[in-house]
Amino acid sequence: MKTLRQQLFIAFLGIAFAIVAVFGMMSHFIATEYAAESEIHMLQSFVQEKAERLATELESTPSINHSQFFKQQASYLKLPLVLIDKQSRLVSSSHLAKNFNKEKIEDYFSSLPSNKTGGIFTLDDTKQMWRLSPVPNTNYRLILFHSEDKDVSFFKALGFKLFIAAFVITWISAWSSAVLANIISRKLDEQNAVLEHMGLHDQLTDLPNRHLIYKRLEHAIRYAEYARKPLALFLFELNNLKDINDTLGHTSGDELLTQIGPRLQVLLSENDTIARLDGGEFAVLVPGLEAEQTPQLAYKIQQVLDNPFPIEDMSIKTCACIGASIFPDHGDSPQELFRQADVAMSHSKLNNNEFFLYDRENDPNSIEQLTLMSELNDAILNNDLQLFYQPKIDLRQNTIIGVEALLRWFHPVHGLIPPDEFIPKAEQTAMIKPLTKWVIETATQQWAKWNTQGSPLQIAINVSQRSLYDRDLIHFIAEALQEIKLSQCCLDIEITETAVMAHPAQSLATLRLLSKMGIHLSIDDFGTGFTSLSYLKELPVNELKIDKSFIINMASDNTDIMIVRSIIELAHSLGRTVVAEGVENEDVLSLLRALNCDFVQGYHYAKPMSVDDFNDWLQSTDLTPVRYRSDTA
Ligand code: C2E
Ligand code: CA
Ligand code: CA
Repeated sequence: MKTLRQQLFIAFLGIAFAIVAVFGMMSHFIATEYAAESEIHMLQSFVQEKAERLATELESTPSINHSQFFKQQASYLKLPLVLIDKQSRLVSSSHLAKNFNKEKIEDYFSSLPSNKTGGIFTLDDTKQMWRLSPVPNTNYRLILFHSEDKDVSFFKALGFKLFIAAFVITWISAWSSAVLANIISRKLDEQNAVLEHMGLHDQLTDLPNRHLIYKRLEHAIRYAEYARKPLALFLFELNNLKDINDTLGHTSGDELLTQIGPRLQVLLSENDTIARLDGGEFAVLVPGLEAEQTPQLAYKIQQVLDNPFPIEDMSIKTCACIGASIFPDHGDSPQELFRQADVAMSHSKLNNNEFFLYDRENDPNSIEQLTLMSELNDAILNNDLQLFYQPKIDLRQNTIIGVEALLRWFHPVHGLIPPDEFIPKAEQTAMIKPLTKWVIETATQQWAKWNTQGSPLQIAINVSQRSLYDRDLIHFIAEALQEIKLSQCCLDIEITETAVMAHPAQSLATLRLLSKMGIHLSIDDFGTGFTSLSYLKELPVNELKIDKSFIINMASDNTDIMIVRSIIELAHSLGRTVVAEGVENEDVLSLLRALNCDFVQGYHYAKPMSVDDFNDWLQSTDLTPVRYRSDTA
């Protein structure tokens, strides 16, 4: 494609040639026209004047010989003049017409109509213009000849000079215009380059923006297709940018954002692109990177972010949830790869910033997932869901202090679907909300039933990370409790340690709110999420539930015993009770007793059961159900 400068130059050159051509042709035409016209006019008046003079001479001296007349005039007759009579016979001629062919002249004029006064006549191979005037009061006619070349050539020469002048002027103006165009276009090019840069880069960080990385991704895909190579697209989002902006101000947030690009550039080659998309969201395009290599680069990115950033005399750390997609495995268009990387990033957000490569299994918008979610919606409406209940036993009192409600889906085609298979998926979509509502509603209603039967068992429900930040659900819980007049301490909410740790500040706020409502709070799967001691002290929770992975094999694993012992001691020192889940045998139970564990849950006592089975079990067991009081521990 031609540059703007070339286009302008060509345009100016074209215009210059057009002007020269038109102007030249016009001047030539005008000059020729003018020459012819003025010449004719001049000849006409000259011949008339000579004829009148001759008539006067003849009148004053009738005896004068014509040749004498011509002789007298010779001094100024610098033109060929010829005098003919009525029969067109040549009577006399001036000195310059002496050599004209007499017969030819007589022949020519005798054949002409008598009223013709001018024309062109070829005489002795030269074109002669002639003008004729009758000599007044005589039968003579005076003819003036004039060879065409003489004066006309002067005018033609004038025309030519004008043409040359026009050409030169136009040429100069064309060139100066071209130079001017060059300067203008250079300026325009510079301005365009600035505008183009602005359009394709982020103003704050000067990194490529969404448009540019999109374009580069398009090219990279085309090249990867041709070269049969993969490419990876990473998306990541800083988790604490909002906190930094809120606490230290936007200038500090901006400062952090500007430092990200140069730091990450060190990890990347010149073929890779890092772009800022929006807020704290960045994208990294790495042509040639295989799927197996993505965790390694994600780990390096995390490390770079984990290294403190010097901002206004402070050292600030940041971290990000990272997701990636691969061409050709996950899509062959920028749109698809961006979408899949985004899904993977959301998955990372839900899983404590662990890196995720896109996986159709985790994609809430994949066909399988969409079908599953719509079926789950039907399951809520068709009563295909059930809560199973597993008792929680007080080790010291040998009483049942409550139950944990565990969700079951009885699919009309696939049969029983365990919660691990559909809850994490529902959590990636809006489906988690109606699902959690259903659990809250069903559990509170079940509590009301048991209460009237004389077994007011505390019911523990599991709340996923996404629901934890949903203010609507907190209101819903309050309403549900109000409806059945449930004493708040009879509802226990279990939140996993990883969910709490994903967004500690937000979790703390929600837990405080729930605690104020009088709801019993437990940290589920404790021991897997690395909660710091100081943070744990802050959390308004009543109970820690030791993850079953530490309990199940405790009898044969000393490390597990040590872990369980320290968790129990830690919890007690902080005034929290402890539940050990996954107790499958008497050996583990004895160990837990020895370690002063408060409560247990596990197959050793009972598996999670349907309401009917649970009621039967309650009838058959020696253990008595008691209303839970937090001071029973
Ligand atoms: P969880 O909250 O840790 O639940 C305890 C899991 O351990 C249950 O699995 C239970 O059946 C199992 N379990 C209990 N005692 C034993 C034992 O002695 N040995 C062994 N091996 N396992 C035992 P389940 O019912 O399959 O639930 C799995 C997970 O699904 C739960 O883990 C919880 O995270 C989630 N879940 C269940 N119901 C709900 C729900 O209503 N809402 C949410 N958000 N999550 C739920
Ligand atoms: Ca649980
Ligand atoms: Ca658990």
